[in-house]
Amino acid sequence: MNIVYLKGQFMPSQEAMISPFDRGFLFGDSVYEVVPYFRGIGFRLQEHITRLEHSLRAVRIQAHTDWAAVMDELVARNGGGNLSVYLQVTRGDSGSRSHSYDASLTPTVFACCAPVRDFAAVSAEEVQELSAIVTADLRWHRCDIKSTGLLPNILVLQQARDHQADEALLLRDGVLTEGTSCNLFVVRQGVIYTPKRSSEILGGITRELVLGLADVNGMQYQEVDIDYDTLMNADEVWISSSTRGVLPVTRVDDRLIGDGKKGPVWARMFELLARYQHQLMTGESEL
Ligand code: PLP
Repeated sequence: MNIVYLKGQFMPSQEAMISPFDRGFLFGDSVYEVVPYFRGIGFRLQEHITRLEHSLRAVRIQAHTDWAAVMDELVARNGGGNLSVYLQVTRGDSGSRSHSYDASLTPTVFACCAPVRDFAAVSAEEVQELSAIVTADLRWHRCDIKSTGLLPNILVLQQARDHQADEALLLRDGVLTEGTSCNLFVVRQGVIYTPKRSSEILGGITRELVLGLADVNGMQYQEVDIDYDTLMNADEVWISSSTRGVLPVTRVDDRLIGDGKKGPVWARMFELLARYQHQLMTGESEL
């Protein structure tokens, strides 16, 4: 896990250095991706690259790198297996501090690895239920961009931790958007509901996969506004992310969701996701 990629080179992490005038450091003028690799293979790699390119275009950073080759090689150099790749692209080192930027700057590309749990390797029974709080969504209105400006996410996650909860679910203008680093699903009478895709949420790769799996497997779903009462009266609440898969939330704001146990619709989706991941890694997937 010691090898990182910085500005075109692979090196031990202790040798990686960037300038304090890098705009990623000074302004959070940068975007990122997190891609899980299972058994050394990128999971939904192309989807992550497409989203990275969306983020780069949206903030007008022009970086042209063979992203897949960098990530594949980084994982291989770190021993393969189950790793998540963090990849960040900043607008570059401007040599001084100024809000305005020169479009000819060379973007700084950094990537490193961390261990990730293979969510398909545990059974639904072994998955831990999570608790959450609901709090105000303090973020900007371009949450579709995976930007490193994560201070609001950090502060509300800490607010959740202060309440002994695992996650914070975010409420804006009376509707839930997502979690601090995850998308949100609720289930009512067998139907899966999730907030509509918009600039108020990140277009989660796992969210899309969950909806795709629901489609293929005849599970009903709708992309709708979800208010606080709908959340609290749901039969099931789940969150999704690339590194966590789908996880059940059984307690919100100190109240039980449904009967307070992992629900059957979640368990079905959990199994479908695990099976899909296995099939993808062995080249047998239908999606
Ligand atoms: N929403 C936010 C704010 C996130 O940061 C993330 C992931 O980090 C997600 C949703 C889930 O996205 P994905 O499934 O692509 O990991």
